[in-house]
Formats: sequence, C-alpha cells, structure tokens
Amino acid sequence: MTTRAQPSCPLCGGELRFSHREYLGGRRSARVLRCRACGAQVRGDAQDDDTRPRPALPARKRPLPDGGHPDNFVLDPTTAEMLRQALGDEPAEPEA
Ligand SMILES: [Zn+2]
Repeated sequence: MTTRAQPSCPLCGGELRFSHREYLGGRRSARVLRCRACGAQVRGDAQDDDTRPRPALPARKRPLPDGGHPDNFVLDPTTAEMLRQALGDEPAEPEA
C-alpha cells in the first residue's frame, strides 16, 4: 500500500473528490464523490453509522500539568472563573 487508490469517474475517468455525505435514512449514510472534470456525482458504499463510533466531543477535559497552570495561561480573572465553572473544575458557589 504505497499509494492510495483514487477512485475515477465512471463517465470520463476524471478525478473524483469527496463532495458530501448523503444520508440514506435511519442510521445509514454514504459518501458522495464528485468528478472534477464533468461534475458527475458517484455515491460510495452505504455505511451503517451504528457501527461507527460517535465523534468525540470537541470540549475535552485535559488535566492541568503538575505544578498548576502552564506559564502561558494568560486569562483575566473573570474569564478564568467562567472557564472553571464551565469545565466543572471547581464547585460553583453554593446557591441559596
Ligand atoms: Zn467525470
């Protein structure tokens, strides 16, 4: 496997590029490729999304390094407090 096999357009043999993902209903979807030369769209194999892991949440908690905040941790106190509360790093002030 030295080079990735590039799919080619069945109509003109041009280069196919990933265009978008088409949802087929339920949890199934398929990649749709578009020919750069003639614009033909080719649907790839349907995939069952149920077998695919869900994308990880973008907000990922990372433990602070030993010794506290990194040196470039430049935040004003208000933003830092908002971040702490948003991340659940510290318990919020007790509510009445
Ligand atoms: Zn084509």
